[in-house]
This record gives sequence, structure tokens and C-alpha cells, in this order.
Amino acid sequence: MGLVKNFFIALSNNAFLNESAKKIGPSLGANRVVAGNTIDDVVKTIQRLNDKNIAATVDNLGEFVNSKQEAIAAKNDILKIMSAIHENGLDAHVSIKLSQLGAEFDRQLAYDNAYEIVQKAAEYNQMHINFDTEKYDSLSDITHTLDQLKTEFSNVGTVIQAYLFKADELLDKYPDLRLRLVKGAYKESPHIAYQTTEEIDANYLHLIEKRLLNAKNFTSIATHDHRIINHVKAFVEANNIDKSQFEFQMLYGFRSELAESIAKEGYNFTIYVPYGDDWFGYFMRRLAERPQNLALAFKEFVKPKSLAVIGVAGLVAILLGKSCKK
Ligand SMILES: Cc1cc2nc3c(=O)[nH]c(=O)nc-3n(C[C@H](O)[C@H](O)[C@H](O)COP(=O)(O)OP(=O)(O)OC[C@H]3O[C@@H](n4cnc5c(N)ncnc54)[C@H](O)[C@@H]3O)c2cc1C
Repeated sequence: MGLVKNFFIALSNNAFLNESAKKIGPSLGANRVVAGNTIDDVVKTIQRLNDKNIAATVDNLGEFVNSKQEAIAAKNDILKIMSAIHENGLDAHVSIKLSQLGAEFDRQLAYDNAYEIVQKAAEYNQMHINFDTEKYDSLSDITHTLDQLKTEFSNVGTVIQAYLFKADELLDKYPDLRLRLVKGAYKESPHIAYQTTEEIDANYLHLIEKRLLNAKNFTSIATHDHRIINHVKAFVEANNIDKSQFEFQMLYGFRSELAESIAKEGYNFTIYVPYGDDWFGYFMRRLAERPQNLALAFKEFVKPKSLAVIGVAGLVAILLGKSCKK
């Protein structure tokens, strides 16, 4: 199973495949988990979710940002979607990645881009800006950026990855920020992160309970795991925690029926809506996330033929050595 996971992670990191995929647009089933290429596409998707009492957090997809020009283009795309959310009165906010704003080659540029986004969002009725967490080696950039921004703005927050040994410490550092709690999506070393499902789930539940009992700001519990969701429902009931204090989140296209039924029960719910032509890396990471349930999760939209195409293309690209940024 580790091999399958590593295979999809390798594909997600493959610059050649990511570039090629941009030209053909979301395919191989990715159009079921990516909301489209344009702002119009994403606005329509958010409107459909809002009609079901579900909010959105929007992610402008982007991989391999290696130049100032690309980082500024990404910032401008994010400003455009923020403007569309505001103009259309949508119940939505924005998730951003510092790497897309240039952090991997110019920290100051990424900070300046993030600052401009957060400042504009504050003008849009304090629209929330979430700093998604990525690989561990980029975590200190995120916390450093947040530490600076939070002295001036209240519309910023981030994500705590439960697989990290230092997740508890991060939770304690930010009781006053809006936080999203997740299990963690990247492959990390045993020196810094729990490796087994049991350990990660146990730490995830520990963090959720600690946060819900002590938070001074809103909490997003982002998982497709019904066992975690059911545990949270029972926990808040037993501890008289009001539903206004937290929400559940899921990714667009995953367990939609479950998401809608939870929203109908009166829980706050937000769907993470990715859009844009840079869909390949995001899609491969989703395939890597649950290799043990690959067939179950994707049989409705990934045909065996498509998987064969991905496999052959990936192997060819890897053998040709046209790859791996990180
Ligand atoms: C909204 C959102 C935002 C995120 N942001 C980040 C981030 O910023 N940084 C980061 O590192 N990670 C992020 N993640 C990814 C996260 O860290 C996990 O990798 C990912 O959510 C998979 O873990 P899980 O909790 O959903 O459940 P898993 O551990 O994948 O699954 C647990 C169990 O739930 C059930 N299940 C799960 N999915 C399905 C399905 N599709 N159909 C049927 N049953 C299913 C199965 O029984 C499975 O065994 C985010 C996830 C979400 C939902």
C-alpha cells in the first residue's frame, strides 16, 4: 500500500505531467473533484452549495511556482476570485498556499503577496483567509507569516496537521485564531510525524477535543472519516458545545451525500472547492491519500483504462527523469 501511495505522490510531484495536464483540462475523473477552470465555473459551484446551506473555501490550484511572474499571477487570480465572492454575495472564503505565492524561492515576495490578499479580504467584510499547511519544511514560513499578519488582521487562520508531533504545541500557540484541524496529507519522516493510522487518529481526536473545549475562535474539523465525525457529534453534545463554535469540512466531490445530510442536521458545513487548470498534482495527492480505498473511492469516476494511462505516462516521465521538484 505504501508503494501505491508513493507512486501517486511521485506523480503529483512530476513537473512534466503537471504541465502536460494543464493543456488538456481536468480529465481522468478530476472534473468530479475540481470545480472547473474559470471564475464563472467556481461561482456557479459555490451558489449550488450555498443553496444547500453549505459554505465554500476556494482554492486556486497551482503547482510549481518558480518565478516572480508566476507568483504575482497567482496572487492576481486569488484577488479576482475574492472579488467575485464579494460581488456575488457568496458564503465563501479563500484558502491559499504560501508556495503558490513564491515562498519556495523568495520569502519576502510571498509575504508581500499574502499581505495584499489579507488586506483586500479585510476590506471585503473581513473575508477569512486560510493558510493551508503543506510539507513540514514550509511550516515555519507559515507560522512566521501568521505571527506577523495577526498583529494587524483578524481574518487569518491556518491548519493543524494531526500527524505532526508538534501539532499540540501549534494548537496551544494559536487559541485565538480560526483553525482547521486535519489528519495531514503529505509524506513526513518518522522523526517528526506519527506514521500509523491508529496514532494519527488518536492524536486527531485528542486535538479536536482539546480545541473545542478551549478555543477562543471558530474551529473547522476537516475530514471524510465518519467515525471521527460521529465522535465529534457525541462529544459536543456531552459537553454542551454550541454548534456555532465549529463546522465540518470536506473536499469538493467527496462524500457529498454525507456532507449534505450533516448540513441538514443543522451543523455548519464548508466544502473546499479547488478550481483552475493546474489540477493534476491536487488530483494525484487525493489518489495517494487513501490507497487502501482507491477502488472504492474512485470506481465511479476513474475507469481502469484511465488508471492505466496515468500509470504508463507516470512511469515514462519518471524514467525520462523529467520530474520531481520536491
Ligand atoms: C477541507 C479539507 C482541507 C484540507 N486541508 C489540508 C491542509 O491544509 N494540509 C494538509 O496536510 N491536509 C489537508 N487536508 C487533507 C487531510 O490532511 C487528509 O489527508 C485527508 O482529509 C484524508 O483524511 P480523512 O480524515 O479525510 O480520512 P481518511 O483517513 O482518508 O479515511 C478514514 C476513513 O474514512 C472513510 N472515508 C474516507 N474518505 C472516504 C470516501 N471518499 N468515501 C467513503 N469513505 C471514506 C473510510 O472508512 C476511511 O478508512 C484537508 C482535508 C480536507 C477535507
